[in-house]
Amino acid sequence: MRRFLFVGPSLPDARKYSGEEDIRILPPVRAGDLPALAPRPGDVIGIIDGLFHQVRSVQHKEILFALQCGAAVLGAASMGALRAAELAAFGMRGVGRVFADFASGRLTADDEVAVVHTGREHGFKSLTFPLVSLRYTLERLVELERIPPREAERLIRDMRALHYTDRTFNRLRETPYGLECAWVDAKKDDAISLIDEMCQKRDIPRESRDVPNTIYLHAWRLGQEINGHALRIYQLFGDGYEELHTRLVRDAIKDECASRCGPDAATAFPDPILNHAHHEGFLAPDDPALPPRLHPWLTSAERSADPPLTLLRKAVTRAFRLLPDVTPDAEAGRRLRSLGLEARALEVHELATTMNLNAESRLPGFSVEAIPDDRLAQLAGNLYGVRPDELETAARMRGISGADVLIAALRPYYLLAKYNPEKVVLPLDIS
Ligand SMILES: [Zn+2]
Repeated sequence: MRRFLFVGPSLPDARKYSGEEDIRILPPVRAGDLPALAPRPGDVIGIIDGLFHQVRSVQHKEILFALQCGAAVLGAASMGALRAAELAAFGMRGVGRVFADFASGRLTADDEVAVVHTGREHGFKSLTFPLVSLRYTLERLVELERIPPREAERLIRDMRALHYTDRTFNRLRETPYGLECAWVDAKKDDAISLIDEMCQKRDIPRESRDVPNTIYLHAWRLGQEINGHALRIYQLFGDGYEELHTRLVRDAIKDECASRCGPDAATAFPDPILNHAHHEGFLAPDDPALPPRLHPWLTSAERSADPPLTLLRKAVTRAFRLLPDVTPDAEAGRRLRSLGLEARALEVHELATTMNLNAESRLPGFSVEAIPDDRLAQLAGNLYGVRPDELETAARMRGISGADVLIAALRPYYLLAKYNPEKVVLPLDIS
């Protein structure tokens, strides 16, 4: 049984509360983190904090996926409480008062738990207070008859009207009611309850239902089916993977066109890909000019060098949203297997894992999760020869659904790729 806990500002010193228990403490959860754990039956995943503003927040589907894999998923205090309230009917378990209040509908707005906080390197210090804590504190003071109910209501109203980033502790110090002494740290209390729950030795009941197979989920699931990490590793490092991906997407687009548009569909362009883009309303007939909305799918180098039709084809294959049952990466996985390339990819995985464990044992406090995103973005930019703002495109070119997913996928291989770049050179001859 493995246990993971995503926690940040709600309980910066979470380690203290998990004691000697073998719980892997991870930073606030974000999109892609749960499938990346490759959840297994018996795993326990606790979610307290999650990022939501600066990056894509953890997706409901990922949690359902973890449940479906046989893991127990618990939530409390902050993002975890929100998700647990939303997914209680699907088997996610909520813990604590904040969860209960969201689940009962007493709390509804997600900014009740939102705070501004410093990063991991500065200890996840909260710079603003969560509205829910003020609520519980005022309830206590009303009970003790230290503040009139009306005054409490007014204070809540005033603070709720502010954006969560403006709810600073200083604003509370201006009030005469001794809020600080009576302060209810709602998120901390619930976070501790969740850890207690995770430390219980008894089996946590789990249930799960089937999750619809969207492109997003499919891609992650596939990453695990193909013997762990081989497909991802080739997506990240395969020399020639872009070309393979482009071909597979083109084949998929042609198939989609044949099945949806039929043999009598218009052929306005000298190219089947552009024809289908025209059928789907992407392109005006017979016009090789690049529509502005396709601009972001090309790198600056390409835009200055490639001829118009080439640019169009590239942009269309990158921007195209395939049907959920069209899966170029399933085909990619099959090709990698047939080329006998899995062994080489797994070698890279083993090397990276060894290097990470070494670094973790030698450098106190070091963990792969602590590598800042901007360093990963920098490495990715160097690997693919693109500017940082072009990472989204670089990701799509390699069949990865976005820059955030790319960065998460690169994380375990950061040390290896940075300090032993020759080890991640993976030639991919697809001709
Ligand atoms: Zn078509």
